[in-house]
Amino acid sequence: MAGANKCFHGLGAMNFNPPGPIERLRAIGVTGGLPEALRIAFDPGADFEPVPAPQLGDWLAVHPEPGQTFDDFASSKPNKPGGIRNKIYLLPLGEFPKDRSPTVEILKEYAATYFAMKVEVFPLLAMESLKLTTRHNPFTKNRQVLTTDILIILKKRLPTDAFCLLAITMEDLYPEPSWNFVFGQASLRERVGVFSLARYDPAFFGNERGKDYPEVLLWRSCKVLVHETAHMFSLGHCIFFRCVLNGSNHLRESDSRPLSLCPVCLRKLQFSIGFDVVDRYRQLFNFYQRVAWDPEARWVANRLKRIVSQEATPDQLPKN
Ligand SMILES: [Zn+2]
Ligand SMILES: [Zn+2]
Repeated sequence: MAGANKCFHGLGAMNFNPPGPIERLRAIGVTGGLPEALRIAFDPGADFEPVPAPQLGDWLAVHPEPGQTFDDFASSKPNKPGGIRNKIYLLPLGEFPKDRSPTVEILKEYAATYFAMKVEVFPLLAMESLKLTTRHNPFTKNRQVLTTDILIILKKRLPTDAFCLLAITMEDLYPEPSWNFVFGQASLRERVGVFSLARYDPAFFGNERGKDYPEVLLWRSCKVLVHETAHMFSLGHCIFFRCVLNGSNHLRESDSRPLSLCPVCLRKLQFSIGFDVVDRYRQLFNFYQRVAWDPEARWVANRLKRIVSQEATPDQLPKN
């Protein structure tokens, strides 16, 4: 979940101290007994940056979370796919006007690549067919839909072979009357969630859409999609590295977080899904090349080089 709380009072900035190198290693946990490729993939090495100190109004300044280490995660009975519950379902909710919406098919493809799982897309569900509580936001004057109403509807539609069901909407959302808005909300226990792309559109705030708007929207949509989906696997927000699981309180903050998983969060997802890390990076590389996201493609290529070359020369492996 991410959003802006109206209770923000700007005094929390000093409450969060970014963890140091030892705390970051402790968050990754002991990797000595793991296969070689995983040991290398979970080494913080040079490809990951520590989480920076939050600025006033940033997520960690307002919500100084304690963080979730890999060991915390593994011992928390996290939601895990398995048996027949092995598909991620996406549900487009409300209108997806062509000129200002991402293609759900590409989101499906990205989720399938990112989580190395089967992804199915529900037919679009019209908002008018549902009895959802709405309001007009006093600041933006735009319509907002109450997330808890949506979660109740999703819970009833959760297919038996679903690991989780996530609704995607172009409508703005709020989780309770005291909140200004929310980017997304999930119910871990019910394995359902909803997230909004409304605030990724400059026109939402009365600004002009740039020429690169479709590309920026897709990039932002992919990012919120994997952030919210990762929550369904019981991953908490990341406070250790710059990571797609960092919380975000505003657009600048969500734009600045990377699309990638840090070693702590990669280890959690790999533990849950059991994917081959090298194969997953290869598929991600192909996706990033296809959509011409060069910085992401370069980053993944570096990761692959590091893992594959170290695997080939075991003598050079760091000693645990
Ligand atoms: Zn979140
Ligand atoms: Zn992380």
